[in-house]
Amino acid sequence: METVIKCGKLYTAENDDVQNDMALVIDDKVIKEICPWNRYDFSGRNVIDLSQKFVMPGLIDAHLHTDSDGTTGGNFLSKTIGDFTIQGMLHAQADLKAGFTTLRNVGCEGYNDIAIRDAINRGDIWGPRMICSGPAIGATGGPTDFPHKPGVEGGYMGIVCDGPDEMRKAAREVLKHGADMLKFMATAGINSKSLDPGAQKLTYEEMRAAIEIAEMAGATSAAHAHGTEGIKAAVKAGITSIEHGSYMDDETIELMVKKGTYFVPTFVPCFHILEHDGDGTIADYIITKAKNAVSHHRENYQKCLKAGVKIGFGTDTGTPYNFHGKQKMEFELMVNAGMSARQALASATRVNASLLKMEDKVGKLAAGMFADITAYDGDPMQDIRDIYKLSFVMKDGVVYRDTPEY
Ligand SMILES: [Zn+2]
Repeated sequence: METVIKCGKLYTAENDDVQNDMALVIDDKVIKEICPWNRYDFSGRNVIDLSQKFVMPGLIDAHLHTDSDGTTGGNFLSKTIGDFTIQGMLHAQADLKAGFTTLRNVGCEGYNDIAIRDAINRGDIWGPRMICSGPAIGATGGPTDFPHKPGVEGGYMGIVCDGPDEMRKAAREVLKHGADMLKFMATAGINSKSLDPGAQKLTYEEMRAAIEIAEMAGATSAAHAHGTEGIKAAVKAGITSIEHGSYMDDETIELMVKKGTYFVPTFVPCFHILEHDGDGTIADYIITKAKNAVSHHRENYQKCLKAGVKIGFGTDTGTPYNFHGKQKMEFELMVNAGMSARQALASATRVNASLLKMEDKVGKLAAGMFADITAYDGDPMQDIRDIYKLSFVMKDGVVYRDTPEY
């Protein structure tokens, strides 16, 4: 039976318009038709009344870690793949309940994200649509490589490679196990034990070798990159998106515009880290690096906005105090740093859909698209904080929330 949703306000994300009193007609998993509700015959239809709500596409989070739980310190070494898989599944479900109908998981232990994605796609478990990288690929001494004492190995957070040949091998390996994309650790990081978060870790040649393999498979790629040189190398190598991007120079920004590289800034992680400055729960070296990074980050983000870099929405959920299901704060931080509410909503819908190469499936409400729909009390287009007033979530035509989240 067809389901019809009465929408008070409707933002389809096809453009920036908000329409009033529209009907969304859903047939099984997809949207069949959108029309003014006074032209629709509701008799004999399953009607969902969102006539008092702001209705829009399901949200897309393009950067998170389903198997990380937001705790501080490295508890990675004491957990098995089994623990990570169950934790990852529960987190993905929490993200869906929070309105994120599509997730791009960029880096996990083993291949647990792919197992979860496949179980959801088979219908064995419920959860969001997932695009997965499997383990991240990084260099010896990079953020995926734990600094054990010499002679002790293991407990990597990803695949550790040196040189183009090993990078090619790693790319083939993750694609063989079902990854949709590759995730690189191009530079050091805020949470890793290196003094300079911007220090380049992978060379242009290394990333180019792996990206060539991804391109042959039609897969995309993302680079964790804080420093200018690492960002520039990744962009030149043909990366799809730069993640974090704390330090950039004008030449890098220009290059990103020219190459059509996406930028996923992820403001939430540093916000939470700095919220805990002084309480002793986060290591001093992390606090120091976060403090330095944020001032540059904001300025570069504003330059990117002005220059017309495509800005995607990602939250890095799973980092310290950055809990699954609570990541909508990224919207507020993006707007506070200079984006309009309109741009922020587009970023988490149609922009992210094109970043994921899924623009014909998700990120917009139109005939033929998946019925991934969220609704809010208030109007997030007028006040972005109304994004916290989530009251309805549908994915694939199935309702996962019909009571307010707040
Ligand atoms: Zn991350």
